[in-house]
Amino acid sequence: MLQAKSVFDAEYKTTRKPLQPRWGHYTCLTFIGICCDKLGKMTDAAIYIPQGSGSVYRKGMARAGLASVTGKKRMSDKKVIVIGAGLGGLSAAISLRQAGYAVEIFEKNAKIGGKLNVLKEHGYTFDLGPSILTLPHIFERLFDRSGRKMADYIHIRALRPHWRNFFEDGVTLDLYPEPEKMAAEARKVGEPPENIHRFLKYSADLYDLTNDGYFEQGLDRWQDFAKHYGAFTFFQFDLFRSMHQAVASHLKTRYFRDIFDFFIKYVGSSAYSAPAFMNSIPTIQFRYDLWYVDGGLYNIALGLQRLMNELGIQIHLNNEVNEVQREGARVSGIVANGTFHAADIVVSNMEVIPAYEKLLREDRTFIASLEKKYEPACSGLVLDIGLDCQYPQLAHHNFFFSGHQKEHFAAVFEKHQLPEDPTIYVVAASKTDSTVAPVGCDCLKILPHIPYIDDAHPLTREDYLRFKERIMDKLEHMGLTDLRKHVVFEYVWTPLDIRANYHSNKGSIYGVVSSRWKNLAFKAPKQSTLYPNFFFVGGSVNPGGGMPMVVLCGQNVAKKIVAWDR
Ligand SMILES: Cc1cc2nc3c(=O)[nH]c(=O)nc-3n(C[C@H](O)[C@H](O)[C@H](O)COP(=O)(O)OP(=O)(O)OC[C@H]3O[C@@H](n4cnc5c(N)ncnc54)[C@H](O)[C@@H]3O)c2cc1C
Repeated sequence: MLQAKSVFDAEYKTTRKPLQPRWGHYTCLTFIGICCDKLGKMTDAAIYIPQGSGSVYRKGMARAGLASVTGKKRMSDKKVIVIGAGLGGLSAAISLRQAGYAVEIFEKNAKIGGKLNVLKEHGYTFDLGPSILTLPHIFERLFDRSGRKMADYIHIRALRPHWRNFFEDGVTLDLYPEPEKMAAEARKVGEPPENIHRFLKYSADLYDLTNDGYFEQGLDRWQDFAKHYGAFTFFQFDLFRSMHQAVASHLKTRYFRDIFDFFIKYVGSSAYSAPAFMNSIPTIQFRYDLWYVDGGLYNIALGLQRLMNELGIQIHLNNEVNEVQREGARVSGIVANGTFHAADIVVSNMEVIPAYEKLLREDRTFIASLEKKYEPACSGLVLDIGLDCQYPQLAHHNFFFSGHQKEHFAAVFEKHQLPEDPTIYVVAASKTDSTVAPVGCDCLKILPHIPYIDDAHPLTREDYLRFKERIMDKLEHMGLTDLRKHVVFEYVWTPLDIRANYHSNKGSIYGVVSSRWKNLAFKAPKQSTLYPNFFFVGGSVNPGGGMPMVVLCGQNVAKKIVAWDR
């Protein structure tokens, strides 16, 4: 297994690294643990006790920190219900269990993972949802904090190149985190390598700033921001430019402008309306690398499922929640498949707007106020095709660029139309993993970003299928010759399927759009503004969509609940 480390790591400021335990630390932690354990025993909190190194510390801290000495309900007696088993819901459930709560999950579908989904057909395995893993250290915390090692559950490897970029004029450029390799790619099209270097330094500074508060502290409100950052630091977020304006100010060629603009794909927004600080995204890839999960990304869900079984978290599959019940100013539980289940705290992994609308049936004025601020991010057309051949020119991840990317963004995000000439993402996991396709064959996941569903003027499945033909035309014309002739299996998912399967708002795939004008890239807060014991997790709340962000959100919402519940 390749364990690559980005060379950019050494060059750019790094954020605080997780504590690497040594014997001295263990001795110290064990001592603190024993003291806390004694204190804890006096209050007799029955909580989950993790196995392995450091467990005395965790057990003691948990007993001391979580047991009630006031006669209030103990944390271990408090029940949290999580609505939805997407990655955000799973992360929240695991983190709350680690904090001592009794946790149950209710999921409408027959399997966990939500948009992290898989399709296995005719010897091909497709990631129906995410195919790029970034920031694996955020996932590792779920295992570390349970006294386990992620490597025992999920096998990951770094990819080279990160992506291959195809342009209409035949130019092909690869992305590498190693500066000398990246410089060679830049020189191919006359982009001075120092421009890329300068841009990535700018990106790293923005990432460190964003990570320090917005990500790691789970900041939700302006007041929290002002307190954490202070007025002066706030301006370091490059507040007065769009993402594209900042990219264009650093990079000279159309090729690299298009490539770095398209990093906004990670959150399904437009580089022309997203704020400049979204240029922090390339650092996620260039500093922390881009990863594949052996066997396909759904193995993340299977690894988490094993962890949850070990932690005693109960999951009710095929259980759609139809209502969240209220008692005065609080929520009292949920109704799933016609049965009421009481809870002290409810966490919704169903997105904010659908949850308020469908589960709490809040009035139209309230919903309209949310819709104004929290417009959905884009949706996508997911086209999975199994081929009877391989295309050697493809890398694992590929982007076929629009000849007019500004128009692509305008069509999807302003006019809400299917783009004439979209930028298309093509994943060929068979380049890395021989288990996902028959020998000598490729399996491709093709994903153009397209507008979310407009319920006033909805497109039909036939409209989307006509658009699919446009995609196939473009790929054939850009070098995947005779693609249609080599298809032996095809599966198409439209925004209508995405909404029906995950109840995402208007079929969005990344939660809420990041827009300078609508929300300055802020999403909804994690704690309900209406009911104090009702919380949200996932792409529609801060810090937003993408796998690592919703996993971080799950950890942060648990922290928030513990602090609120104290
Ligand atoms: C095609 C596609 C490609 C993507 N590519 C990437 C990528 O490469 N890298 C990346 O990091 N991210 C990617 N993403 C985004 C990423 O998948 C999401 O941001 C993330 O998985 C969302 O997790 P979540 O927990 O917020 O929501 P979801 O995964 O949507 O989970 C919500 C869960 O709640 C359940 N639910 C909803 N309502 C109810 C109810 N009333 N009762 C019971 N259950 C309910 C749903 O069934 C679902 O299981 C992609 C997404 C898609 C769709």
